[in-house]
Amino acid sequence: MDRIVFHVDLDSFYTSVEVREHPELRGKPVIVGADPKGGKGRGVVMAASYEARAQGVKAGMPISLAWRKLPDAVYKRPNYELYGTVSENVMSTLREFADKFEQASIDEAYLDVTAKTTWGVVRDYALAVKMRVREREGLTCSLGAAPNKSTAKIAATQQKPDGLTIVPPDQVKSFLATLPVNAISGVGEKTERVLAELGIRTIGDLAAYPGAELTKVLGRNAVWLWGIAAGIEELPVEERPDPKSISVERTFEHDVTDWSVILETLDSVADNVYIRARNAGMAYRLVGIKIRFEGFRTHTRDRTLPTWTLDRQIVLDTARELVAEFKGRERPVRMLGVRVANLQTPKGRQASLPG
Ligand SMILES: [Mg+2]
Repeated sequence: MDRIVFHVDLDSFYTSVEVREHPELRGKPVIVGADPKGGKGRGVVMAASYEARAQGVKAGMPISLAWRKLPDAVYKRPNYELYGTVSENVMSTLREFADKFEQASIDEAYLDVTAKTTWGVVRDYALAVKMRVREREGLTCSLGAAPNKSTAKIAATQQKPDGLTIVPPDQVKSFLATLPVNAISGVGEKTERVLAELGIRTIGDLAAYPGAELTKVLGRNAVWLWGIAAGIEELPVEERPDPKSISVERTFEHDVTDWSVILETLDSVADNVYIRARNAGMAYRLVGIKIRFEGFRTHTRDRTLPTWTLDRQIVLDTARELVAEFKGRERPVRMLGVRVANLQTPKGRQASLPG
């Protein structure tokens, strides 16, 4: 039987939360990220409202460049604590509508609603989800409905913001056929180039390409990619078990050599990891970093702490200490990641209490 899967993606989540908290910002270009310091600021844009995007500002862009484009925009430093709380509320609202629920990121989730609705009335059910999120949290989201996760995710991006795109089983192939290959989550510039050399530009091209040939070029990834393109991916929507680690990564739009930008970004990534651990109630005993240089050479470092902790500053300080060894290398940095592991759940902590 065909499943009915929703992918729900909050629209411009960080900036939308800022506008919700400060209604006077509605309709204005809002940029969340590093302090622009009158155009001299280091660091990057983390999120841009649709008004800012319309003026060419987007996530990952240096904050100084955003300032040159939009000096009059509203600039906000990220408030991960607030975003984490709002995310938790949205997720618990969404969960009520699902048979099976899977949070995919701070602002995205999959809902398997197969037993809750039918393809005949799925639009009403999807509108009810969107309305509930708006009523309870004052935020809009975009929703894609399809028989599998990958198609639902692509559908959700088609009509942002406040979008609703429904792809019933008999329309999956035609819906995917004309979209560019980079509409598939995980297909970056590099894969796009490799595929373009084979004459593959659309998802339809990809689905029609001989699988064996594709495997020669892409290796194991070919099977996964082809399944998505053909609309036959069948991954279940499933609640994630208690994680073994919590990690956040950020890729720079342009490789970065400025060490102050690297540290500022690292702090913000570490802060994000801390909030997620705190929201999950997970104490951690290991803090790790990942740094990727131009050319994809990736290094990881980690440190085990003397005991479990839920302290924010320890994550930030340890991440900075671990990354210090890479300072002074000439190579530009492409990506930074922070993780905490060796996690202890609230349940585990309770059990270890005396009595
Ligand atoms: Mg989003």
